Order: sequence, then structure tokens, then C-alpha cells
Amino acid sequence: INVAKPCVSFAHFGFDEELMETIRKAGYFEPSGIQKQAIPVALSGRDIIGLAKTGSGKTAAFLLPMIVHIMDQAELEKGDGPIGIVLAPTRELADQIYSEAKRFARAYDLRVAVVYGGASKQDQFKTLRAGVEIVVATPGRLIDMIKMKATNFRRTSFLVLDEADRVLDLGFEPQVRSICDNIRPDRQMLLFSATFQKRVERLARGALQDPIRIAIGNVGQINSDVTQIIEVLKDDSFKWNWLLDRLDGFVAQGSLLIFVSRKAGVIELTENLKTMGIQCECLHGDMLQQERDKAVHQFKLRQFPTLIATDVAARGLDIKSIRTVVNYDVARDIDSHVHRVGRTGRAGEKGTAYTLITDKDDRFAGELVRNLEEFDQPVPQELLRVAMQ
Ligand code: ADP
Ligand code: MG
Repeated sequence: INVAKPCVSFAHFGFDEELMETIRKAGYFEPSGIQKQAIPVALSGRDIIGLAKTGSGKTAAFLLPMIVHIMDQAELEKGDGPIGIVLAPTRELADQIYSEAKRFARAYDLRVAVVYGGASKQDQFKTLRAGVEIVVATPGRLIDMIKMKATNFRRTSFLVLDEADRVLDLGFEPQVRSICDNIRPDRQMLLFSATFQKRVERLARGALQDPIRIAIGNVGQINSDVTQIIEVLKDDSFKWNWLLDRLDGFVAQGSLLIFVSRKAGVIELTENLKTMGIQCECLHGDMLQQERDKAVHQFKLRQFPTLIATDVAARGLDIKSIRTVVNYDVARDIDSHVHRVGRTGRAGEKGTAYTLITDKDDRFAGELVRNLEEFDQPVPQELLRVAMQ
């Protein structure tokens, strides 16, 4: 078969019966668009820039070929360092990818580890020392582990950057570069995201070898399963009542995720809601990792209906019950907005995203207008007014 052709059924990828069984158990009946296109190309050994909307199954698009690659390599190369590495921008996302990787690797008895900041270095050290085939990591902590000689890249031949544009963003770029530089150059490398600015793509191409770019749909467009509602308010003081009036209605639909731009704002809104007797929890970077894990875990289990978060929750998190996203404050830029909104409307489900905009948000309003225009979406008059002022 010509491996670079898209495959319309999981049966056509040439996976063995163990992996097929795991895929069936996951409830995947048919590959998603990005999976159809990217899996055969990845199996053929090529580097990939894979771009597809939020919630379209990018994780399995890199994990499945990664596992096949590892099964091929593990026979040949004995050792203890990871053969496959996935880098992610946040701890919560790393944890989620780790769970998925364990699920898909289960049939083969592969050793999977996750390392990220805020958790015990000692435990992570021990796990890596015991030997691994797959490591999911945030970049900084992986570098720490290498420095501590917990593990090494000698066997590493498959590298994935999930949320690649974020992982290659200013803060992370030197760390990611140092990781890339220490992994052998003939490795296979896969980059995935729903957004990819030209500037970042140019940067990324330096690390890739003759990559195939696979883009499903319009890169940077808001997932059309999400109904986007823009609410222009006079100023910040109107936000609280706006939310209180609608909160019961939102929660009746399913879980609610509210984004606030600053940690202090997250804490304040959470406290104010709790004072009103409203059940909610918060997620931000100043919390202990244990508290962060608990918040995400309980939110996933629907033990409380409303989570108030900073952008730490903007990327990658896959929480089935989220029906409504509220941008209580606007995102710092349009890409971040696209990812926030993409926490709902996943795997074909519908969702609604509300964005509260005030006159001081003219810069963001401008970016949003350009995004809507680029993809031929209607632009609300009020939004245009804020953008034009
Ligand atoms: P993305 O990374 O593109 O935002 P995810 O990989 O998180 O999306 O997948 C979104 C959801 O879709 C997950 O709950 C995942 O289990 C599910 N999913 C992925 N692939 C399939 C498939 N082929 N069939 C059904 N559900 C799928
Ligand atoms: Mg993802």
C-alpha cells in the first residue's frame, strides 16, 4: 500500500489486533479527519506539521503512530531511556496525554511516564531510572531530569510537540531547542496544534526535516460546533450581574468553564461566587500542584459544575461535560481565544462560548473582527464599534 494516502478506516492502517482492540475499547469507530491524513504519513516515517481544529482527535493522531514506531524500535534497541517523547505546555495537559498514552500502550506492556514541575522530583527520578519507552513532559522538568541523569535521549527517535505553537513560544523556546539539540537528528518529529502563526512555523521548520504539512479545515478558525456569542458591556462592573443572571442556565446545560485573565481575578471571582453559595472551584498557577490536580480531576468527574481558570486551562484539556465557556475577561490574543473556546464543542459535540467585551478591549476586538472576517463569519455591529474606536 502507499502509506502516504489517507485511510478512511482504522482497519486500513495495518495496526495489529491488540491495538485495534484498544481503539475499539476507546469507542473510536472511525478515524477523524486529522487521523485519516496524519497517521499514514507518520507511519511512513515523515516529519509532520499537523493542524486541525480543537477537539478533533489530534492526540491519537500522534500517539498511535508513536506506539507502532516504538514497537518496531524496542525490538532493535535495548535500553532504558524513552524512545518516544511528547512535550506539552502545561502540567494538566501532560497528565491528560499521559493517561491517553497509557491507555493505548496497555496492550503492549510499554512503560509510560509523565514528568512535570510542581510534583516530586524524587518520584519522577525513580520512575525514569526504572526505564521507560514513552515520556510525556513539560519542557523544563524534562531538562531537570536529564541534568539529574534520571534518563537520557540515547534511544529517543520519535518526538512530538503537542500545542506546538505554544511550546515553541517565547518562554519555552530555549528549553525546547535544548531538548531537540540533544536528540539525534534523524529522529521523527511531529508538531500538532489548532493554531500556528507563520512566524512560529518558520521557527519550527528549523527543527524538522522536510516536513509534510497537513491542515484540516481553516487553521485558526473557531470550531464550528461552538456557537460563539459576543456580549459587549459598558465596563467591567457589569460582568458580575451578567454572570449571576445566567449561571443557573449554563449549569443546567452541563459543566461551565470561566476564563479570567489574572490569578487574582480568578481568586476573587471564585470567592464571590462561593459567598453566594454557588458551587465552584478555581485553577491557576499559584496553586499547589496537588490542588491543581484535584481541581481538574474533580471537575472531570463532575463533582462540581463550574471551574474558574486562567489560561493554564486554555490549551488541550479534554473535558467531555463542558457545554459552556465564558471569557469573563478576553484572551490575550486571538489564538489563545480559539483554544479557550475549544474547551467545548469537542469530538462532534455542541457547545456555546460567551465572550464579554468592554470598551477597553479594543485591541482584542480588532483581532476578533479580523478572525471572523477571514473565515466569512458574521461580525456583530457592537464588536465592530469597539474595534473601531
Ligand atoms: P484535539 O487534541 O484535537 O483537541 P483530542 O485528541 O483531545 O482533540 O480529542 C478530543 C476527543 O475526541 C477526545 O475525548 C478523544 O478521546 C475523542 N476522539 C479522538 N479520536 C476519536 C475517534 N476517532 N472517534 C471518536 N472519538 C475520538
Ligand atoms: Mg490536543
